[in-house]
Amino acid sequence: MDHEVEDEVAAGAEAGRRAARRDEAVRAAVAQGLLGPDAAVVGLLDVTGIRESAAELRAAFEAVLAPGTPVLHAFAVKATPLVPVLRLLHEAGIGAEVASPGELALARAAGVPVARTVLDSPAKTPAELREALALGIAVNADNPQELARLDALVGSAPTRSPLGIRVNPQIGGGSIGATSTATETSKFGVALRDEGAREWVVRAYAERPWLTRLHAHTGSQGIPLALLVRGVAETFALAEEINARVGRRQIDTLDIGGGLPVNFAGEATTPTYARYARLLAEQVPELRAGRYGLVTEFGRSLLAKHGTVVARVEYAKRSGGRRIAVTHAGVQVATRTVYAPGAWPLRLAAYDAEGRPKPGPEVVQDVAGPACFSGDLLAEGRALPPLEQGDYAAALDTGAYYFAHHYAYNSLARPGIYGFVPDGAGGVAFATVREPQTVAEVVAESGGAHASALTALHAPERR
Ligand SMILES: *Cc1c(COP(=O)(O)O)cnc(C)c1O
Repeated sequence: MDHEVEDEVAAGAEAGRRAARRDEAVRAAVAQGLLGPDAAVVGLLDVTGIRESAAELRAAFEAVLAPGTPVLHAFAVKATPLVPVLRLLHEAGIGAEVASPGELALARAAGVPVARTVLDSPAKTPAELREALALGIAVNADNPQELARLDALVGSAPTRSPLGIRVNPQIGGGSIGATSTATETSKFGVALRDEGAREWVVRAYAERPWLTRLHAHTGSQGIPLALLVRGVAETFALAEEINARVGRRQIDTLDIGGGLPVNFAGEATTPTYARYARLLAEQVPELRAGRYGLVTEFGRSLLAKHGTVVARVEYAKRSGGRRIAVTHAGVQVATRTVYAPGAWPLRLAAYDAEGRPKPGPEVVQDVAGPACFSGDLLAEGRALPPLEQGDYAAALDTGAYYFAHHYAYNSLARPGIYGFVPDGAGGVAFATVREPQTVAEVVAESGGAHASALTALHAPERR
């Protein structure tokens, strides 16, 4: 069998096991009371699946790189900013890519070592940069002004931070504008094809022997694999040009970003890390030799398939002849899907009141969320087994950029998130990843301690 066929067969078997684990988890969540009338929406994380994806990522690059090539796979924390997830990934050999003081604090709370952390935001403050360099965290400068700040910091105190510049090869976008980072006018990095920019970058390295990394993250969901590979090829070519110009191997590490797309249309994991790594090795064969260390920053592709939002159907109704299931999962847990349903469709699954998969026949229905605007729909006109009051609707592939990205519309509380594994005795064991938010916490976070702040505030009387 060739690699691609082998991949597909393995991915199919893995997908089947993942779906079976998920079904078991939904049933057990209902049986154990994690999900029910008083816990009407939860997020579930498949710990087995997360471990598998982490192992697949590492194996994929090991298979194509010379033995001993330094590789840091840094999980893009923004995809699933949950401390226990970061700890799990750290245990599985995956570091952290952070883009804010909050994300850095999460990574540190999870125990991710500074040497396995990369800081990449487009708007780093002087204080953030100072902290990163004091800790020894890798930083990629986004633009000339940020590089000037690094100049000052590097000049004032020694640092162990590996430092680089983020470039935008401007190779074009994918099918989703909001996640296309390598367009002509993207806000990220130094736009390489702008007049004089390439020469500026080369000179910046020539003048700063401490710049040893080069970074590009050329896309995300909606980007064709070929374009991702081109982004890496362009980054590699620039590193070679810089090293040739300075006459030594100053750039020793390429940070190739993340962005592997996720299959939201079906169960299978496709494309696989193995396929991407093989394509990279084919199209940029010099990478195999291990002359450059690699940093990767995958987010969505590591977690998306391993998360499920499950919500109780509070009411089943009809309107204008349309069947509508009113559930507790909507814009607060699936913000992108609700606001941009064309770009971010989600697969849904129907479960009965005991959490067992509902059999067909399918009927066309809307699956609505709890928020008070008419567009709050997880899916519109979707064929699914008929959802009745007390059933459960599950939004699949929501482990990244969904339930950990709560949107506080209608002051809806953040749902609890639970990790699960088979318990070895035919059941399922759960662990709390994040407690459900209480209504008291909602009040506290909404200025509850400052109830009189505005009524007590008066402009002086006009005389
Ligand atoms: C968002 C982001 C990533 C992760 O992208 P995914 O599509 O989730 O893999 C990696 N690097 C940077 C700089 C990012 O902004």
